[in-house]
Amino acid sequence: MNSMHSTNGSQFESVIGLEVHSQLLTKTKMFCTCPNIFGIEPNSAVCPVCLGLPGALPVINFEGIKLAVKAALALNIVINKRSVFVRKNYFYPDLPKGYQISQYLEPVSSGGYLDIKVEGVEKRVEINRLHIEEDAGKLIHIGNESYVDLNRAGTPLVEIVSEPNINSSGEAVAYLKELRDILVYLGVSDGNMEEGSFRCDANVSVRKKGDPDLGTRTEVKNVNSFKFVEKAINYEIERQIDVILNGGKVIQETRLYDSRENLTRPMRGKEEAHDYRYFEEPDLPPLILTDRFISEIKGSITELPAAKRERYAAEYLLAEYDSGVLTQDKEIALYFEDLIEINEGRVEIKKIANWVINDLLSELKTKDKMREKRKEERVVDLVKSENFLGLILEVEAGNINKNTGKTVLTEMLLSGKKAGEIIKEKNLAQVSDEKGIGDIIEHVLEENPKELAGLISGKDKLFGFFVGAVMKKTKGKANPKKVNEILKRSIAEKNKEC
Ligand SMILES: [Zn+2]
Repeated sequence: MNSMHSTNGSQFESVIGLEVHSQLLTKTKMFCTCPNIFGIEPNSAVCPVCLGLPGALPVINFEGIKLAVKAALALNIVINKRSVFVRKNYFYPDLPKGYQISQYLEPVSSGGYLDIKVEGVEKRVEINRLHIEEDAGKLIHIGNESYVDLNRAGTPLVEIVSEPNINSSGEAVAYLKELRDILVYLGVSDGNMEEGSFRCDANVSVRKKGDPDLGTRTEVKNVNSFKFVEKAINYEIERQIDVILNGGKVIQETRLYDSRENLTRPMRGKEEAHDYRYFEEPDLPPLILTDRFISEIKGSITELPAAKRERYAAEYLLAEYDSGVLTQDKEIALYFEDLIEINEGRVEIKKIANWVINDLLSELKTKDKMREKRKEERVVDLVKSENFLGLILEVEAGNINKNTGKTVLTEMLLSGKKAGEIIKEKNLAQVSDEKGIGDIIEHVLEENPKELAGLISGKDKLFGFFVGAVMKKTKGKANPKKVNEILKRSIAEKNKEC
């Protein structure tokens, strides 16, 4: 890249549309009864239907329809009571049938939006449609050989297509994050980008500011992390601006993002829709949904992240950042809400939020062992909410100080024990009694006559030295406030004696 666009590039604006493919968390595949699971022996979850053997007939998985409708409703997309499955025809080694069952002109839902916030500014991203389709299999390349694993063939997917009204990589990432959070909240998808259950293709074009026409777009395929989405889009915007500024023309094509080199490479010319020879799937009837079915699903949608964030700010008076962190993961949000409920007003909500954000979440993140564990178990199984609140209450009551509290929390996560038990077992209770602390202070002062003389002669900095020495002697268990008080008194007395 040259540096031209930093000056000339500002006359351009970028236009981005996103296509998201998200696998649905059904037990079985979309049109057969094979299990829908990841990571098992290749080609062990296949049958005549998903292998495309002659005579095998597809049957619609109703669970998949429910999840797709749920996702569409949460994204404010209008449900079409009649929709049609079609065949999208193309050849690829991971597609044994030679076509993919999808929806085209009559999708299950169309016309919706998702509100996002980028650096404090609200933006409404229009959604063109959400439709149902099946996934293809997977190619695995080892050395010079290629293998086909068809376990994924026939897995239910929803494709969510935004309108091209996203204007920066920042907006794109905010949209994708919000979208993923919603799908995970709903239990529609596991949102796992590395395993490919949540994938994104970005259509990127640039145009001169004020130009009513869209520029020629390129499609950047399968970018598998939010960071890469941002980088790939930024690269593509700069590349296209460079092409235009150098007198060239952007070619409509599909490009692959290379995360190692941070650039996109041409993969193939972009197909037009008519290349796929769409036609109605003759083996499946149109999908007809009743009002009752739709309203039942609507009724099953619980509070979504955006609503939770707003409520946390209004009801709990939490800062935007804190509400954002707490609601990112539904499990954590529900855990936090449970803490508030059993707390019954004993501890300030802000304090409980801080414990969750600064201590619990960072512990869960940093400890590999716990992260592993967390994948299998819910946080509530690692540390019951009443035990976590118990720990906070121990600190609030002054039985242990905040630092010891952190040590206790680590121990709680490892052993599942209650705070009180750990404090007793490890003898961690805070030393608060005046006599006990006074004795230790006397001891420390005697042990360090030089420093004491210095302090009395006016070297105030040495006060901290003594506080530290006392804390060390008590293994951090002394009540720091008490130590400060008594130490000041003792030194004042020594001063008089001199
Ligand atoms: Zn099958």
